[in-house]
Amino acid sequence: MLLMIPGPVQLHERIIRAMARQMIGHRTADFSEILAFCVDVLKEVFGTSGDICLISGSGTAGMEAAIASFSNVKKIATIENGKFGERLGEIASRYTEVERLQFPWGESVDLDAVKRAFDNGCEAIAFVHNETSTGILNPAKEIARIAKEYDALVIMDAITSAGGDYVKMDEWGVDVAIVGSQKCLGAPPGLAAVAVTDRAWDCYNENCPYYLDLAAYRKKLKDMQTPYTPAVPLFFALAEALKIIKEEGLENRIQRHRILSAAVRKWAVEAGLELFPNLNEYSSYSNTVTAIKMPEGISDGELRGALRKEYGILISGGQGDLKGKIFRIGTMGNVGKFETVSTLAALEDILSRKKLINPALEYAQILLRDLP
Ligand SMILES: *Cc1c(COP(=O)(O)O)cnc(C)c1O
Repeated sequence: MLLMIPGPVQLHERIIRAMARQMIGHRTADFSEILAFCVDVLKEVFGTSGDICLISGSGTAGMEAAIASFSNVKKIATIENGKFGERLGEIASRYTEVERLQFPWGESVDLDAVKRAFDNGCEAIAFVHNETSTGILNPAKEIARIAKEYDALVIMDAITSAGGDYVKMDEWGVDVAIVGSQKCLGAPPGLAAVAVTDRAWDCYNENCPYYLDLAAYRKKLKDMQTPYTPAVPLFFALAEALKIIKEEGLENRIQRHRILSAAVRKWAVEAGLELFPNLNEYSSYSNTVTAIKMPEGISDGELRGALRKEYGILISGGQGDLKGKIFRIGTMGNVGKFETVSTLAALEDILSRKKLINPALEYAQILLRDLP
């Protein structure tokens, strides 16, 4: 099966092999060396000189750790224009008062509404950078800039942007950011990294959940350890995944993600399909996952079923109310031209058989030509 879903992603052979080895003690120099390397590369990925807390748990564990640990604020605003933004709102509601800025899924964020939330007394904001459920890239820099005018804390879910698109925490003024292992980093699922700048500790909540208390992670970082037994095999895999990122170079990696997603979009548009997100002057299409409206004349089950059965390729459908209305193609991690062209060719076969699209593969291939 070829995984072209927005996580978990297809694993590079080297990353699979990295996990097949004997356990090591987590209170040893061997483990500290692995952790130190991960911390170092993740700082570059997040664009920060802050602390990198690595939690054994999925991306959502990182989201909850970030919000719960820094929820000592009167009120937090959450931006919700997709499933993961809504999740931020649900998590935050458990820890403090929340002003949930809700937009229809796929719509762009209204920055005036963000400003009003701070005028209404919000002291922090949490938002999703790359909203995986709708394929939109929210304007992180602009949101952080407004928050800083009010001296508010900025928490950003960078789960499907970090490692695949530009994330510049320190430059943009993002205080806390989260990434999951199984998306653009290209590792298996099960680890979350939370990047924390010093500023965040002004909002520290000492009554946060014990396992997700980032103060414990920060304290143990001084000895280059984790507070509790980490998922050691996943650290082997993450270190190898980050080594691949270093070898490719972060900038090259970001450009590869951009070209791959641009090729998917170009194919869709030339084929006569419609992209799902509704952009404004601040938002843009995601550079890591593409959401396309399901054409009339085929169901989600038929399209994704044929792709899976005839070609062994897995893509995603819509989540929640978008089920059956869109399909999503992830171009994250270590996939390249081969996987992307194969996916588009297979989709083109299935859709043009039913006369639902015009052949458009060559347009995508032209964009992919220069990709190594
Ligand atoms: C995948 C994802 C998450 C949640 O990650 P899990 O690993 O499933 O807990 C959160 N936010 C975004 C934007 C995601 O794409």
